Amino acid sequence: TSLIDIKGVRHAYKTANGPLPVLDGLNLSVPEGGFCAVVGPSGCGKSTLTRLVAGLMKPDEGEVTLHGEPVRGPRSTVGMAFQNPVLLEWRSILKNVMLPLEIVPGGLKGKAAEDRARYLLSLVGLEGFEDKRPSELSGGMRQRASLCRALVHQPEVLILDEPFGALDAFTREDLWQTMHEVKAKEPFTGVLITHDLRESIFLGDQVVVLSGRPARTQYVMEISRDK
Ligand code: ADP
Ligand code: ADP
Repeated sequence: TSLIDIKGVRHAYKTANGPLPVLDGLNLSVPEGGFCAVVGPSGCGKSTLTRLVAGLMKPDEGEVTLHGEPVRGPRSTVGMAFQNPVLLEWRSILKNVMLPLEIVPGGLKGKAAEDRARYLLSLVGLEGFEDKRPSELSGGMRQRASLCRALVHQPEVLILDEPFGALDAFTREDLWQTMHEVKAKEPFTGVLITHDLRESIFLGDQVVVLSGRPARTQYVMEISRDK
């Protein structure tokens, strides 16, 4: 059974010029522990898809379920990271990573929270940078910190919306490697939005291609990888 199930989703945004159909037949299914990469040209509805999974909006038609339960409203059990990580400059890297634990009900507190954040920072190679401010880190390091922040509260689903899009090729490939290491130690169920086909194949165990206007699921490719 799937953790994330999206079936027959159609959606049009209401605009001043009338409805703008964006999705017309979106289907995807991610098992627990799966990592689904969604590829498609810019404007095809990839961010709309992430908002549906995060419960930030409801589709006109079709179903979005997590563990078989319809998604209603935003949930704290989703972790998100974006192309341009928004880290708070007045907080240290450690305190930025700990932020979701302060917000999510029942999150770890005190020493346990700090230990969890330090552990994740060490997994992504940021040991020793805990007390720095975001502006003292490179773009790749900020993206690593933002990944830790997205994972700190052990979200049910991790959504990565073009997280590596703004990085140079070397930094990006370093981060791909880190993603594999993180996933081995800190298993998650993820959706990765990207328009880099190489990235989708390198990271995903499933690649879903969206295209058309309005967009629909065109095909789904399973990537088998020796564990
Ligand atoms: P992608 O992430 O693939 O670039 P988006 O999901 O952001 O695509 O957007 C798909 C289309 O819907 C685009 O044409 C975009 O301009 C439009 N769109 C996105 N959000 C809104 C909104 N809130 N209101 C109206 N149109 C929107
Ligand atoms: P991305 O490139 O990251 O997908 P977008 O340009 O699609 O970002 O959207 C950025 C923000 O602007 C989103 O919150 C989206 O809902 C909003 N947006 C995008 N297109 C429109 C639009 N045509 N009308 C109103 N809001 C829009």
